[in-house]
Amino acid sequence: MSEARLSNVRAQKLRNYTGGEWRDPDTGNWLDVENPSTGETIAQVPISDRAEVERAIAAAKAAFPAWAATPADRRAGYFFALRDRLVSHQEELSRLITEEMGKSLPDSRAEMKRAIENVEAACGMPILQQGDKLVGAAAGIDGEVLRLPVGVFAMIPPFNFPGMVPFWFLPYAIAAGNTYIVKPSEQVPCTMQRIAELMADCGFPPGVFNLVNGAKEAAEALVESPDVAGVSFVGSSRVARLIAEGCARTGKRFQAMGSAKNHLVVMPDAKMEDVVRNLITSGYGCAGQRCMASSVIVGVGRDTCAEVTERFIEASKQVIVADPLDPKVADEAMVMGPVISAQAKARIEGLIETGVKEGATLALDGRGIRVPGGEGGHFIGPTVLTNVQPGTEVHRTEIFGPVQSIIQTDTLDEAIAVINAHEYGNGASIYTQNGWYARKFKVEANCGMIGVNVGIPAPVAFLPFGGMKGSQFADVKAQGKAVIRFFTEDKIVTERYWPEA
Ligand code: NAD
Repeated sequence: MSEARLSNVRAQKLRNYTGGEWRDPDTGNWLDVENPSTGETIAQVPISDRAEVERAIAAAKAAFPAWAATPADRRAGYFFALRDRLVSHQEELSRLITEEMGKSLPDSRAEMKRAIENVEAACGMPILQQGDKLVGAAAGIDGEVLRLPVGVFAMIPPFNFPGMVPFWFLPYAIAAGNTYIVKPSEQVPCTMQRIAELMADCGFPPGVFNLVNGAKEAAEALVESPDVAGVSFVGSSRVARLIAEGCARTGKRFQAMGSAKNHLVVMPDAKMEDVVRNLITSGYGCAGQRCMASSVIVGVGRDTCAEVTERFIEASKQVIVADPLDPKVADEAMVMGPVISAQAKARIEGLIETGVKEGATLALDGRGIRVPGGEGGHFIGPTVLTNVQPGTEVHRTEIFGPVQSIIQTDTLDEAIAVINAHEYGNGASIYTQNGWYARKFKVEANCGMIGVNVGIPAPVAFLPFGGMKGSQFADVKAQGKAVIRFFTEDKIVTERYWPEA
């Protein structure tokens, strides 16, 4: 990796940032970070042990009282500075995301745009954090709600949005007066390392923001520490459940957002041309590794299902599969890069086989695709399974790759029943021009984020983001007003004064 991209990886080794200092962690345990398009090692990440994590927690705990007492406008001021730095480094950060994660450059740019939007939203904290006051709660008595920072918070993100997901939480937590620790995904730690460098340049007081690289052990140390007040986790439901249980055991607040299996329902009156374009970006953007990606297309009625299947397969064949940093395709709107690792590729290919064994038709097989120059990468081409039966393993399991399952139902009621019977409830969309169908779907489909003629209904930073059922193990969503409640504690004051004698 070039020095220009990441000054802290001169020796190809990433570092931790604790108490305002860059540290070479005391660990003999390092993991190679790979460019999934080429298989090349681009850095090495330390797998920090508990002692490293405890150092970061101690730094954050020590910094909390002074930071909490810093006036709200001054706290927000650091985020104005960070916003400027993120904007001026947006292209560099986007390339870094593409290099370590494999999504297309336009996707990485959109990811950084959303991260920046969250910083902008958190700059409004002097207004957003205001409490309430009831003058005359009783005779001569006033009631007041103080919305106060809580302490040290930690974030444990997944691999698929290394620049954005931490920003669903971090700016709000810190701007509200808490101190913070991020433990990036060990598969994609470079983007957050560079962002931490930019944060260090903004002059946040030492210990307010800390970065600890690591994996399971570091995450567990954060969850188990009595000095961490709350944890925000985003990743698989298997781990989300463990994090939720651990936080409940240690009495801390938590957000735990998990896996997804998003259904996109196509009604007979849908605008088919637009729908298919939308389905392609939803299903194959980020090689299907978005928690809001389309995974199941539900065609309502035999003719609609047949038409959408035929058009979707034809359009799938046109998707460009390539190293997204290849200059010939880098700025194309719809380029599909690799999946994150050899292990992920093997798992996805195994699930395609499972679908076939269960009786689905493999209408388009992306296995064995050859990408010139990407021989060391982890590519799978667009893959379509038709005649998938609800409740089979390939339908129940989150594939997290460029594989679409197509299900036919006779009615909208039946389509909603398929969605509602599923373990996960992150997102779902309907394509229709009919307000009655759309309203029914909005109300009856049990998913946290609903799209109407929108294939990736990921809310902007000013609105909450989060799923339902097995996709979320807490009642507090990311972003928006909800997350400010998570990062603050309401203290209710009942107050009166007697008249002077
Ligand atoms: P993952 O669960 O494997 O890892 C997520 C994080 O947890 C990483 O930082 C990892 O180091 C840590 N971790 C792994 N095992 C752990 C353990 N046993 N104890 C404590 N920490 C542990 O997820 P991933 O593969 O990195 O990300 C993909 C998943 O994330 C998908 O399931 C996807 O749907 C989900 N996701 C969900 C959302 C959402 O908003 N619901 C958003 C993005 C991604």
